[in-house]
Amino acid sequence: MAQHFDYICLGAGSGGIASANRAAMRGAKVLLIEAKQLGGTCVNVGCVPKKVMWYGAHIAEAMKLYAADYGFDVSINKFDWQTLVNSREAYIERIHGSYERGLSNNKVTVVNGYGRFVANNTIEVNGEQYSADHILIATGGAPTIPNIPGAEYGIDSDGFFALNEQPKRVAVLGAGYIAVEIAGVLHALGSETHLFVRKHAPLRNFDPMLYETLVEAMAADGPTLHTNSVPKSVIKNADGSLTLTLENDQQYDVDCLIWAIGRQPSTDNIGLENTAVERDERGYIITDAQQNTTAAGVYCVGDIMAGGVELTPVAVKAGRLLSERLFNGMSNAKMDYQNIPTVVFSHPPIGTMGLSEPEAKARFGEDKVKVYTSSFTAMYTAVTSHRQPCKMKLVCVGEEEKVVGIHGIGFGMDEILQGFGVAIKMGATKADFDSVVAIHPTGAEEFVTMR
Ligand code: NDP
Repeated sequence: MAQHFDYICLGAGSGGIASANRAAMRGAKVLLIEAKQLGGTCVNVGCVPKKVMWYGAHIAEAMKLYAADYGFDVSINKFDWQTLVNSREAYIERIHGSYERGLSNNKVTVVNGYGRFVANNTIEVNGEQYSADHILIATGGAPTIPNIPGAEYGIDSDGFFALNEQPKRVAVLGAGYIAVEIAGVLHALGSETHLFVRKHAPLRNFDPMLYETLVEAMAADGPTLHTNSVPKSVIKNADGSLTLTLENDQQYDVDCLIWAIGRQPSTDNIGLENTAVERDERGYIITDAQQNTTAAGVYCVGDIMAGGVELTPVAVKAGRLLSERLFNGMSNAKMDYQNIPTVVFSHPPIGTMGLSEPEAKARFGEDKVKVYTSSFTAMYTAVTSHRQPCKMKLVCVGEEEKVVGIHGIGFGMDEILQGFGVAIKMGATKADFDSVVAIHPTGAEEFVTMR
């Protein structure tokens, strides 16, 4: 006989934990199933350890690039990679503890094991069966490795976080968030870092101002960028080093090669064949606007959702809203997938929300779009010989100049965007932005003083 719950969440990553806790807070009897550690990608091999590494990189940059011009005579005796890793992992352990306490306080039952559907409303884990009125699939994704000879000699972002030694020469392949973030961190911490992108630039789907400025910043103080570089093969040499060969037959010898070419949904081995849950051709689960899958009583949030947005806070918000709908009578609750702010922890960081300038022009017509920009040197770096660019842009539409896109790259941009996100969600116009008194001297003030 299966043990029965009101709600089962399969996967204790950001989406699963958030939804389980919210459901339990609303009085549901909840079971949370996780094969690995609590927290999923974000906490264990994603956002959290990445941000710690980024802060480490920040300290390195402060000492190496900026300290001297602020009058500090700094000499770095040693950088110990393992100490940084230990501090990071200890922090993650504390997060695990806080998650455990939160779930326990909410009386969520947690089962550690690999869960598989045996029917629409029943999951088997560790040989036991559990049924529920409602089941959430929140199994997240995993890094993709390309299908080229020798690809297995490289590691992925999970492997990056497992490194106990700092690699001396690294190739990072890919052009998205992960490639840019890892390459920036490794470079700042002192590895000889090469970033290989297939096309003309990394982050090429972002507003051009962002990736053009990032490329400029990389040329000044960043990893070596190789554009139009398509990987062809990797071989492992007798001394343990790797040789990367590109399609144009150029070769590069490195000690470590990191694939960051995208992620795939973890939906293959969870018994979906025993349910009515349908997936698209790439394995992503098809849902409607309220996270319902094609199987009654089965839902999905996060990186496995077809047409979704692969960001932790998106999964968290969608998971919580689903629980409010199922267990708190909020029958219309649904996630708004439009206008999601996001940050790339590059050097300098990028913050972006809404439509890029090309997207806005394609959607509304060139003559309907007015763009405001600001370009300056971040004050933090302006007094040093390593001047770092800061560029900002507002994309406005129509007579009333409604702001449909906000983009920035520069010191502090990672913290600047969130508040402006509220204004954009409220439908702010350029005049609304202008109505706010600037906070001086900051980078953020540029967004309310553009002409
Ligand atoms: P992305 O899908 O963002 O980018 C991967 C890019 O790599 C592709 O867009 C493509 O760019 C390039 N690529 C694809 N295949 C190949 C190949 N065979 N060889 C070389 N390059 C290739 O994936 P990421 O892994 O960077 O990130 C996954 C998701 O995780 C993102 O969608 C993001 O939302 C999330 N994330 C968010 C972070 C944050 O919020 N700060 C941090 C990290 C991840 P092109 O076509 O230009 O070559």
